[in-house]
Amino acid sequence: MQADIKIVLVNTTHSGNIGGVARAMKNMGLADLVLVAPKSFPSDEASARAAGADDILSAATLVDSLQQAIAGCRLVFATSARERHIPWPIMDPREMAAVISTVDKDAGSGAVAIVFGREDRGLTNEELHLCQHHVCIPSVSGFSSLNIAAAVQVIAYEIRMASLTDVSAQAPQWGTSWDVPLAEQQELELMFEHFESTMVKTGFLDPENPRQFMTRLRRLIMRALPDKIEVNILRGMLTSITKTIGSTKK
Ligand code: SAH
Repeated sequence: MQADIKIVLVNTTHSGNIGGVARAMKNMGLADLVLVAPKSFPSDEASARAAGADDILSAATLVDSLQQAIAGCRLVFATSARERHIPWPIMDPREMAAVISTVDKDAGSGAVAIVFGREDRGLTNEELHLCQHHVCIPSVSGFSSLNIAAAVQVIAYEIRMASLTDVSAQAPQWGTSWDVPLAEQQELELMFEHFESTMVKTGFLDPENPRQFMTRLRRLIMRALPDKIEVNILRGMLTSITKTIGSTKK
């Protein structure tokens, strides 16, 4: 069992799909399902479609927001069928599975999250920007969107295949093995808030006209996969800037 991989479903509308996802997960040895404000759950429809994967449904965690779902995670992948306005580091499911295979299994549960969007409109840009990597199943253009349970099946299959063979050498060279644990999602968010407030204080960021500043900064920092010490260094620098501004204003 790959207990440290969470499958996160955001605002799922059709409860039958939640059951289909549970079944796809159980087939491939995944167990940790997190539901962000589903329209209706639990439901008979979900149990029927789970076809024996009821244990995954009854152990599912319900939360109100995506932030809550991924707070303790160090590596977060968003799945999406289409290219967005601002490009983000993108992988196919096989590359994603290779990266996951490099994650230190001793790091504790909830180290990795894979996020799936709404049936009708996927994930919002804000939700996508909470995630370090975007994963796209390379379906045909013009008919690229899979049913959510089918998308989970493809992703879970690649994770399963990667767990049966050693594919870590196929991961992009930066991998995730490091001397210091990667920062958790919540720590990254606090750092981004710190950046935003400090840059408003210095006058570098105009809150009335922020343009894409925070999105681009997010993308830059997410790409680097910062660890806990690096986040502390960046925040320490921000604090020193705030102190300097305070002392020059006196
Ligand atoms: N119309 C929506 C599609 C939603 S399908 C959109 O354009 O985003 C529901 C969810 O299934 C998506 O949010 C995504 O999590 C997953 N999914 C569907 N097709 C996918 C694909 N080709 N690659 C990756 N994820 C996909």
